[in-house]
Amino acid sequence: MKYIDQVDMKGKKVLIRVDFNVPVNESGAITDDTRIRAHVRTIRYCLDADAKVILASHMGRPKGQRVDKLSLKPVAEVLSKLLQKEVTFIDDCIGDNVEKTVAAMKTGDVVLLENLRFHIGDEKNDVDFGKALAKLCDVYIDDAFAVSHRKAASNVAITQFAPVSAAGFLLKDEIEYFNKAMSNPARPLVAIIGGAKVSDKIGVLENLIDKVDKLIIGGGMAFTFLRALGNEVGKSLCEYEMVDKAKEIMNKAKIKNVIIYLPLDCVTADKAALDAQIKVTRVDEIPKDSMGLDIGPATISIFAGALKDVKTIVWNGPMGMFELGPFSAGTFAMAKAVAESGALSIIGGGDTNSAVRIAGVSAKISYISTGGGAFLELLEGKTMPAVEALEISGGKS
Ligand code: AMP
Repeated sequence: MKYIDQVDMKGKKVLIRVDFNVPVNESGAITDDTRIRAHVRTIRYCLDADAKVILASHMGRPKGQRVDKLSLKPVAEVLSKLLQKEVTFIDDCIGDNVEKTVAAMKTGDVVLLENLRFHIGDEKNDVDFGKALAKLCDVYIDDAFAVSHRKAASNVAITQFAPVSAAGFLLKDEIEYFNKAMSNPARPLVAIIGGAKVSDKIGVLENLIDKVDKLIIGGGMAFTFLRALGNEVGKSLCEYEMVDKAKEIMNKAKIKNVIIYLPLDCVTADKAALDAQIKVTRVDEIPKDSMGLDIGPATISIFAGALKDVKTIVWNGPMGMFELGPFSAGTFAMAKAVAESGALSIIGGGDTNSAVRIAGVSAKISYISTGGGAFLELLEGKTMPAVEALEISGGKS
């Protein structure tokens, strides 16, 4: 694969596929600019290398329709402030008008194209749409890790037609950190997996069992495992149809000498609400009418202790229903334990990222992935179509 710093950009039109899929409020204002900031390094690098910068992104799911609420126009203003230079917004992403504007660009100019998904061709990885995008540029840079698990014209088909294709710094960092953690890790390697359901992360658990030395399981999904060990879990989130799968994973772990850590105690409640009656109970004593909504103090101490001697940590998914104060202690305690472990730590997923941010320990995490679905697919051991496309095109040029 080619990387951004191996490409000559002087005076060239460089199209960067970014992920500006930012949250907006009712009045259309951007409420969190993290995703925009994540690409500033790549954009600045291109500007410093005397390129003409064309930015392309999707936003939401307009499914081939022009939807005003999903216009990228407000992003141009925010980006302009971050870069401290004018960003010209173009109200389409392909076609004659776009080509004319791009042809008139000067070195150091930045334009932002309208939402790629206003055309159905993007999500369909349509060859003609990829060709039309490629027509705009001399160099294509993919920096949108968060969509690299999805085949789109703007990250796959385009690489067949762009004269040069390479990965930007964000994509490069994501791939390099992930490989450091999973392909050739300093051991012991521990994975912490939490969140709601086993069924959502079964591929992740199955892949991790082959790779890690320890597997810590928290969150709602722990109750399916606890049930598989014969515990009554009351009203806790439990997928009874996944109990056999959980047994299978635990058996495989035994054969592979992987230590699985499960909760010993949990914070139970009569309901998932701020005013719930809460109580800490052992996992073999969960009352019939209660549900486990966070890991308990004994579990926190065992889980945190399991991080003491490890060299690499990968974490996805909260330890409890951390959005509600009474059930947040476990997730925040784990965030602190990961931060203080001294190990290489890679985390990913919206909930995990915000837990680390709220706990105030982001700076002590080695790498916070910008991909939710993409990060999970890497954890599942899947090949990323956009990365594969860059590998193929990098090998050609
Ligand atoms: P996921 O997207 O699978 O990582 O799941 C995240 C969600 O799992 C969060 O919204 C949490 O509130 C929820 N969650 C975590 N632990 C529990 C639990 N013990 N019971 C119910 N929901 C939980």
